[in-house]
Amino acid sequence: MSNVAKAETVIVGGGLVGSLLALSLARKGEAVTVFERRPDMRKTTISAGRSINLAISERGLHALAQVGLQKEILQLTIPMRGRVIHPKSGELAFQRYGKDDSECIHSISRGELNKTLMTEAERTGRVRFQFETKAEAVDLHRRELSTNDGVTSRYERLYGTDGSASVVREAILREAQSEVNESFLDYGYKELHIAPGPGASFQLEKNALHIWPRGTFMLIALPNLDGSFTVTLFLPLEDKKDCPASFASLQTTVDVQRFFGEQFPDAVPLLENLTDTFFSNPTGRMVTVRCRPWNFEESALMLGDAAHAIVPFFGQGMNSGLEDVSLLMQDPVRRLGAFSAHRIPDANAIADLALDNFIEMRDKVGLPAFLLAKEVEKRLEATFSSEYLSRYRLVSFTRVPYRVALEVSSIQD
Ligand code: FAD
Repeated sequence: MSNVAKAETVIVGGGLVGSLLALSLARKGEAVTVFERRPDMRKTTISAGRSINLAISERGLHALAQVGLQKEILQLTIPMRGRVIHPKSGELAFQRYGKDDSECIHSISRGELNKTLMTEAERTGRVRFQFETKAEAVDLHRRELSTNDGVTSRYERLYGTDGSASVVREAILREAQSEVNESFLDYGYKELHIAPGPGASFQLEKNALHIWPRGTFMLIALPNLDGSFTVTLFLPLEDKKDCPASFASLQTTVDVQRFFGEQFPDAVPLLENLTDTFFSNPTGRMVTVRCRPWNFEESALMLGDAAHAIVPFFGQGMNSGLEDVSLLMQDPVRRLGAFSAHRIPDANAIADLALDNFIEMRDKVGLPAFLLAKEVEKRLEATFSSEYLSRYRLVSFTRVPYRVALEVSSIQD
């Protein structure tokens, strides 16, 4: 036992959810050690791994408010009041997200948010991040965690916030011999970049999320504080019926130039080093994870993507993970079994809503029937302002449980 280090509360994964959890537990007086496999992003420039920026909305902002950080974080964001739709030819169209400018989602840098949460957690004096330390195995019965530095740590309570390929999930589900469903989308994504214009100006409307919907695929862009936009192409991984290209078919610079020229003509002049960036950036994959339970007895629990990775089309992956933390903190005793049982139906509901929203974004937003439905929705909202809230508003601008938002939206449909 001599090489077993002692720690009270251990978190595996110092991403967005793990860092907020560490800060929240520390504010309640707990001493926490966080094992993070990457280097300290405040000291070295490392790629955020995926999605340089994200949309944060009410659920995430509320969780930040619980630790007193909402105002500070909002200063790092750009409000996005709606979608700007870019058709292949013709006029751009604006579709508002909320009832007015008070309801918007906010674009934020993943790295800046993560760094702020880590620094605030350390400032409590109760959180220690151990970087470049990868969790390799968990013995749930002995309450021991082994890391790649050859050390085994004993814990009282273990939280797994180690993302969609979670080691903690693997251990909990092996023990429970229970259900897990990991389903990879047959689409991938690729990040591209629009540079700032002269004097750090924005080359597209600043306060919007831009979408180029093309039926079976799409391009989107979110603004950054420096005037640039992070652009993401969502495209089938392999050739697909009714889709003019796939990541597999775009092999040469000519393929890429031709595809973008035909499909996104107004974006091409803005995209910086399109073909170089296309071939040097990785193609990301997207997975939906549904599993139960999220806990092992009262000593281990997974949260965030580790428990419920979802596809990114409702902008709720991080938001739901941050909401996990704020809900867990509401229970003074933090009963892990009860939390897991209560929260799983909501995670499954947002997983469904996110998959549905992919079809809405890539296809429906450009169709007349969708626009008509939106018009009807607007009138219902104006006439019955306290009784009727659209699905988008329920998910993004309230904290109504996701399962209720899903149920209400099918009634509305
Ligand atoms: P992660 O962010 O994956 O963090 C896990 C951490 O654990 C990482 O730091 C990792 O290095 C560490 N780790 C992993 N394994 C180990 C190990 N064995 N030992 C130690 N450390 C480990 N969500 C939104 O709310 N809004 C959006 O607009 C949005 N856009 C997205 C766009 C794209 C393209 C993608 C892919 C996702 C998007 N998401 C969005 C989802 C969001 O990125 C995730 O839900 C969120 O990052 C989950 O946070 P997490 O802390 O649970 O996991």
